Amino acid sequence: KASQAAEKRGWHLYLVGGAVRDLLLAETADQLMIKDIDLVVDGFHKSADVGAGVELAKALQELYPAARLEIHGAFQTAALLWHKDPELNSLWVDIATARTEFYPYPAANPEVEASSIRQDLYRRDFTINALALRLTSPRSGELLDFFGGLLDLQAKQIRVLHANSFIEDPTRIYRGVRFAVRFGFDFEPRTEEYIRYAINSGVYDRTTQHNSRTPALQTRLKTELKHILEAPYWKSALQLLDNLQALQCIHHTLSLDAELLRQLRLLERCLHRFDPQLTLVHWQMRLEALIAHLEPKYREKVAKNLQLQEDSIHRLQNLAQTQAEVRELLPQLQRPSQIVQLLKKYDLPMLILIALQSPRSLRKQIWHYLTVLTHIQPILNGNDLKKLGYKPGPQYRQILDDILAATLDRVITNKPEAELFLST
Ligand code: ATP
Repeated sequence: KASQAAEKRGWHLYLVGGAVRDLLLAETADQLMIKDIDLVVDGFHKSADVGAGVELAKALQELYPAARLEIHGAFQTAALLWHKDPELNSLWVDIATARTEFYPYPAANPEVEASSIRQDLYRRDFTINALALRLTSPRSGELLDFFGGLLDLQAKQIRVLHANSFIEDPTRIYRGVRFAVRFGFDFEPRTEEYIRYAINSGVYDRTTQHNSRTPALQTRLKTELKHILEAPYWKSALQLLDNLQALQCIHHTLSLDAELLRQLRLLERCLHRFDPQLTLVHWQMRLEALIAHLEPKYREKVAKNLQLQEDSIHRLQNLAQTQAEVRELLPQLQRPSQIVQLLKKYDLPMLILIALQSPRSLRKQIWHYLTVLTHIQPILNGNDLKKLGYKPGPQYRQILDDILAATLDRVITNKPEAELFLST
């Protein structure tokens, strides 16, 4: 229906980007899991009007009323969103008009009829993401491969379209790493040289210096970090980023040394043990662990630059001080109730961050607190107090705290002992 609507208006419609790549990579239909579809509209003999994508999206929304329409920017792009449709499940369809305004390309080959789709594809990141499948006739189903993307897919390589690609947009380094690890591809040797050149020339300064001209870059870097850190292959991706020295885009001192690797392994054990219900955002915890590995004076700035959530920023701001406090006080405490009194002030993510960087003995105490002490309940509860004739009121809190402390320290181990404890 989308191609008919485009043909009726005298436009070409193309499927572009990741969906084409994934179609070509999938060996069987059930390997395909496309949730994002990128479509590009182009004129037939000349470029389509800038609003063509939006017009087509509106026409399609009339045909598919279940889809939600979103328009981004005055005439830029539109998206149709099917949210949990019984047939389509969740599907996001972006419709854009072929862009010719960026990186104007000297028409190398005058025979190329669809010059604006070519230019649109030329501003993309990698050859394997710069393929297009024509959906409109004539020659519908034809693959447009101007930059050798198909050969690169077959050769399993990630190749940029031009030498300046990473200078223009350093987040492409992260994207490249993500695709390389996800598909088991290698960087084409010259592309790897371009990455190393971009890093050596200090391109990361643009990602780490926060100013009004770079928020979009920081947001894109955070998005890429999220994609990487929530994927099953996150460790290999970090390793590859480190080999390319690209962790410097987060901070110029960040590298994946043996200590950080140990901490990340421990973090996984903690998350597995203490957060099986996934109430914490695990990719964010991994990112916090990376930032926590920096010297304390850098942490807050990096967290703010990456626009982490308020609670993450707050944690990273306070980590050094909290850690010092726990390191000083915890070894002096003997009774379980004192340990609970100290550690209950901190939330689980903070305790995990502290544990990651603490010496073994301290780590064991925090582990014991999280696995054993936090689960111990006072032997008497509010109902028991009522039955014993205590009038409900603010003093309940104090009595229950005392009973909990006595339970923790095994001063009392059963109800009769608890009642005796109360009467004294
Ligand atoms: P995924 O399957 O991981 O979503 P994708 O290729 O669909 O992969 P998107 O982030 O959805 O990734 O981007 C869609 C397309 O937009 C890409 O295939 C690429 O052509 C283009 N693109 C995205 N980000 C950039 C970028 N930073 N520079 C150039 N082109 C980009």
